[in-house]
Amino acid sequence: MHSPSPPHASGATVRQAPAAPIVQAKNLSLIYPTADGKPVTALSEVSLTIAKGDFVSLIGPSGCGKTTLLRVIADLERPTAGTITVEGLTPEQARLKRLYGYVFQAPALYPWRTVERNVMLPLEIMGLSRAERQARAREELGRVGLAGFERKFPWQLSGGMQQRASIARALALKPDLLLMDEPFGALDEITRDHLNLHLTQLWRGTGKTCVFVTHSIAEAVFLSTRIVVMSPRPGRILDVIDCDLPRERTLDIRESPEFAAIAHRVRDGLKEGHSYDD
Ligand code: ADP
Ligand code: MG
Repeated sequence: MHSPSPPHASGATVRQAPAAPIVQAKNLSLIYPTADGKPVTALSEVSLTIAKGDFVSLIGPSGCGKTTLLRVIADLERPTAGTITVEGLTPEQARLKRLYGYVFQAPALYPWRTVERNVMLPLEIMGLSRAERQARAREELGRVGLAGFERKFPWQLSGGMQQRASIARALALKPDLLLMDEPFGALDEITRDHLNLHLTQLWRGTGKTCVFVTHSIAEAVFLSTRIVVMSPRPGRILDVIDCDLPRERTLDIRESPEFAAIAHRVRDGLKEGHSYDD
């Protein structure tokens, strides 16, 4: 057998094993049982490695399994086959250790709680003291540009501000991994641009690993270090595109030829996977 022993293996310098990837999925499949007896295959043979600090977008047509994949990472669904680890742990262990924050498609804020008390709620469940809960809520609301809105109710905020509040709520858990399911899908383009810029700055500033679901090619290219193009149901990975634009990005980058080239490749991938025999 081949033995890849490095020359200094027994020397004084002990080399540390490389950090486990944040997410490692191998051959994941997920079949939903349904009441009409026709099971739905939502994911088929999905393998994906996400490294620390990556910003990975999942893009693909509606119903291709993007939300399902995010929910498998979050231990909200169990795969039918295949393996997945989150920071080297099972998704369940990672969930119990609160290693991730999850931002849903809709802000899902309680209308009877102020913005600050919405952000504090998961911290209350974690058992943090009131002072700590409030300090974290204020810090994260400040980070997403909502300082001064702590005592407002969600319905007093615009849609974009509500979605920022829900990002603050996820960040308040201080997760290594931020899972976001089309968080800006329901917003107008101008607000979305603004939040995209804010999110890329936040990602750069915090060093978090992000997995972001979107329908928008421009949004995926602007935000990501890697773009995972998925096929229509059953969701498979068609292409993984490195998005090697500078990490520091402003909205102007969308006018550059490099941006256009990556967007083109994403579009091609989506086109290739398209089928009408659904
Ligand atoms: P996407 O987020 O890409 O739009 P989803 O992951 O939500 O796709 O869904 C993938 C497929 O699985 C779709 O066909 C959807 O109808 C089906 N599906 C999602 N959740 C369930 C469920 N709980 N039971 C049965 N089918 C489901
Ligand atoms: Mg979805």
